[in-house]
Amino acid sequence: MKHIAAIIGYGGMGDWHYRNITERISGIHVKGIYDIRKEACDKAKENGLHVYDTMEELLEDSETDLLIIATPNDVHKDLSIAGLRHGKNVVCEKPVTMNAAELEEIIAVSKEEGKLFSIHQNRRWDRDYKIIKKILKDNTIGKPYYIESRVIGSGRALHGWRGHKPNGGGMVYDWGVHLFDQIFDLIDSPLVSISPHLFSIYSQEVDDNFKALMRFENGLSVLVEVATNCFIRQPRWHVCGHDGTAVIENWECDGKIVKLASNEALKWADDIVYTAAGPTRTMAPRPDDTTKQLPLPEVETSWTDYYHNIVDVLDNGAELIVKPEQALRVMKLLDLIFESAKTGKTIECNL
Ligand code: NAD
Repeated sequence: MKHIAAIIGYGGMGDWHYRNITERISGIHVKGIYDIRKEACDKAKENGLHVYDTMEELLEDSETDLLIIATPNDVHKDLSIAGLRHGKNVVCEKPVTMNAAELEEIIAVSKEEGKLFSIHQNRRWDRDYKIIKKILKDNTIGKPYYIESRVIGSGRALHGWRGHKPNGGGMVYDWGVHLFDQIFDLIDSPLVSISPHLFSIYSQEVDDNFKALMRFENGLSVLVEVATNCFIRQPRWHVCGHDGTAVIENWECDGKIVKLASNEALKWADDIVYTAAGPTRTMAPRPDDTTKQLPLPEVETSWTDYYHNIVDVLDNGAELIVKPEQALRVMKLLDLIFESAKTGKTIECNL
């Protein structure tokens, strides 16, 4: 039996959920939508979807057992709680809420009602992320000590509500939650400090670019960066291990691994390089035969696993992949980031 879903907020992402569920997820049928914008309702009707006139009509529809929330961020909490209170299971877009306290309210209600609550952290299924996960799991470059995870653009535009603070605009909320979620999923160690730098270069209200240096208890450091004003690309991932380096350049996953050819290779360094203003032995280029280059590993990944898991949880009591407690860790981090942005100070933590 199919689960019957309704989407609240039929903009860019709401339509994405509709099309992808319809084409790729056999266990869910999207029945209809609720949106406060006439254009969105008209488009839904053109697509043959039922359009609920009011939220109450949607909430009272006993046929619908799954709500998908794809509105701007500031209303995620109230809509999620309304859905759960009316006996619906809820999948909410990221960022799940505006802060950790709001998410704690939702988690309490979902437990009280005994209903599923999950967050659409779809980027856990990104190919680039899966490749990095495999490289670390297989110990391909030795023990990792530093990771850079970036998304870089020069669009200089925060579209619509994304530029407005009350709606939960800005890049920490928009892309930050994806990248922090990946890092927490990747690294099995508590976060011990966070040092964020938020920039408002062309946007008055919100952060349009940010960098955040994270330090973990196991000694690993991570730089997360989101840029919308960077005109020269940097790699999506740059990962340093004791025995090598891995780079993924772009979404297409061009990249490589370069590692020591053998342990003996460390002994080469005799050359001194003379720059215009002085000599250096430390930075002398390494002879080619002391390293080997490997292609990035092949990985299998499909976003559909996200919704297949939702169906499996509902039908068979499977374990939820994207758990609200994981999103809570991310929201606690965001709280620290916004606190630090006010003082400009690094925050020590145990997260
Ligand atoms: P959007 O502006 O394109 O669409 C939002 C829609 O919500 C609009 O149609 C608007 O009219 C409607 N809306 C606003 N308030 C509402 C309310 N109270 N009740 C019902 N409808 C309401 O925005 P978007 O880009 O689709 O983003 C929506 C959500 O999806 C955001 O939380 C965003 O962060 C998230 N998102 C996630 C991904 C991802 O890859 N996971 C990608 C893009 C956006």
